Amino acid sequence: MAQSRVLVVGGTGYLGRRIVKASIAEGHPTFVLHRPEIGTDIEKVQLLLSFKEQGARLVEGSFGNHRSLVHAVRQVDIVICAISGVHMRSHQILLQLELVDAIKEAGNIERFLPSEFGIDPARMGHALAPGRVTFDDKMELRKAIEEANIPFTYISANCFMGYFVGGLCQPGKIIPSTESVCLHGDGNVKAIYVDEDDIALYTIKTIDDHRTLNKTIYIRPPQNILSQREVVMAWEELIGKELEKISISEEEFLSIIKEQEFAQQVGLGHYYHVFYEGCLNNFEIDEKEEEASHLYPEVAYTRVKDYLRRYV
Ligand code: NDP
Repeated sequence: MAQSRVLVVGGTGYLGRRIVKASIAEGHPTFVLHRPEIGTDIEKVQLLLSFKEQGARLVEGSFGNHRSLVHAVRQVDIVICAISGVHMRSHQILLQLELVDAIKEAGNIERFLPSEFGIDPARMGHALAPGRVTFDDKMELRKAIEEANIPFTYISANCFMGYFVGGLCQPGKIIPSTESVCLHGDGNVKAIYVDEDDIALYTIKTIDDHRTLNKTIYIRPPQNILSQREVVMAWEELIGKELEKISISEEEFLSIIKEQEFAQQVGLGHYYHVFYEGCLNNFEIDEKEEEASHLYPEVAYTRVKDYLRRYV
């Protein structure tokens, strides 16, 4: 059977570039949207050229130019979008409504994977403002996808390791300290961490799997369901040293959020739900949903401790 053709939108991004790589590696004819707006961003241009060298096809297209999006979408079977989430005050996620319109008009798309890749927005109706904007926008987009009867898969990827494990689960930090760490409360709430390359691979595996059609797929590698304390302990074992620990209570954390700029408030709000409330792991996956490491046991996913070795 011929491999389905994949269009990646946001292919130069932090996650998007990994999705392009995984799509090519899994043998899919891979198309990457090249937005003229990137102009003279040399890094992006070089990255796009490197995709081309690896066999991807670049397709010119732009949000704001409906015809170009329809033209891009018509060349493939699957569309995966990995554009950035909240950007300053703009509702970046809702740009994808234009992609939904294009997919609807093109009428040929067998699966659309919108830019989700985080906390499941469907479970965040109670989220704090202003961070809830991410979830509200992702839900608005889901509604548009489903109303247009576009076949979909939503990927709930939990915590990207680079951001969360690298910083020992502390906001604003992406390199682990060898001296000290600030714990969220007692540090015992479990979260879930996934290597970004693994997210990309699992994502590609779902695209023509009938078991993932019109479902939310959670990426919950069982060995990577750990509390902040357990992440810190893994790091301490690697460096052979115990870190000094201080703790931030829930009340303190909430008051710190209020003092920040909008974008920081959004990010910190998400940390609050993950590390104080335990929103990633406080529910069971029901029969209308699936878990990726269970569906694809052949993926040798990266363990937290192995990920941390790169910082030693
Ligand atoms: P990036 O910030 O790296 O951006 C990805 C791409 O978005 C860019 O490279 C660009 O692609 C595209 N883009 C940016 N601005 C615009 C615009 N105005 N119009 C159209 N396209 C634009 O994204 P991430 O990889 O960080 O995020 C991808 C997804 O992952 C998001 O949904 C985000 O919420 C989620 N996420 C989850 C995390 C987690 O821990 N669970 C952590 C970080 C992100 P190009 O120039 O190629 O068109």
